[in-house]
Amino acid sequence: MKYALVTGGSRGLGRAVCLKLAQMGVPVIINYQSNMAAANEVKELVEAAGVSAELLPFNVSAKEEVDAALDQWEATHPEDYIAYLVNNAGIRKDGMMFMMPEQDWHNVLDVTLNGFFYVTQRLLPKMMMRKHGGRIVNMASLSGLKGMPGQTNYSAAKAALIGATKALAQETAARSVTVNAVAPGFIETDMTQDLPQKELSEMIPMRRFGKPEEVASLVGFLLSDEASYITGEVISINGGLYT
Ligand code: NAP
Repeated sequence: MKYALVTGGSRGLGRAVCLKLAQMGVPVIINYQSNMAAANEVKELVEAAGVSAELLPFNVSAKEEVDAALDQWEATHPEDYIAYLVNNAGIRKDGMMFMMPEQDWHNVLDVTLNGFFYVTQRLLPKMMMRKHGGRIVNMASLSGLKGMPGQTNYSAAKAALIGATKALAQETAARSVTVNAVAPGFIETDMTQDLPQKELSEMIPMRRFGKPEEVASLVGFLLSDEASYITGEVISINGGLYT
């Protein structure tokens, strides 16, 4: 059976992607770091849609944790493999660069970029071997395309993720594994809760933040068979904020 793994699937965009996968009938592995209650809620919602769901907690930025969790999953699923990977886990630690604590620089790169590397590298061999149209979607950001003041760490991590998406897409294309990135603008989640939504919405041509379900629709499309000839792309979803 083909499974999907969504990192950071407990909340926000990851949660919406898990629910989209449930609609698509794809069994979901919900990764999270610490919020078990939120992850359990997603699991119950996926199961309520008649689709199987499993929790797989690990810190994407800790290689030993990634390997241990995925080794264990594979040992208990000898007949199954992860064909769909959504590298969604991410954090923000904003601040002007001249005052940024070094740790905030490293933490953001560790989760977004190293997390992508550890999880993807661990799953790639099986995905490529099966030649069954594996799918990787990386959650980038408008910040990685445009660069946002106060987010040099986050912008650098997301820009690097976009570069990695384009490079990896060319490595895996012959094996029918597509690799794409999605670049959301401002979306209503816990991550953007502290932002002045009303003020920022005035800058957005659509005059509103996006909803997690809107991003999940795009991710669902990129994961589907319909998107089999799209690879190495970065698709913006930002209400017209940056084109
Ligand atoms: P969110 O609401 O803060 O949720 C973050 C998710 O990531 C949670 O499920 C969290 O797990 C998980 N997570 C954080 N660090 C982790 C780690 N080290 N290992 C494993 N899981 C980890 O964020 P969001 O808004 O949904 O953002 C999701 C992704 O979209 C991020 O990559 C973000 O950069 C990107 N993005 C968001 C926006 C936006 O406007 N919201 C815009 C552009 C891009 P716990 O529940 O256990 O904490």
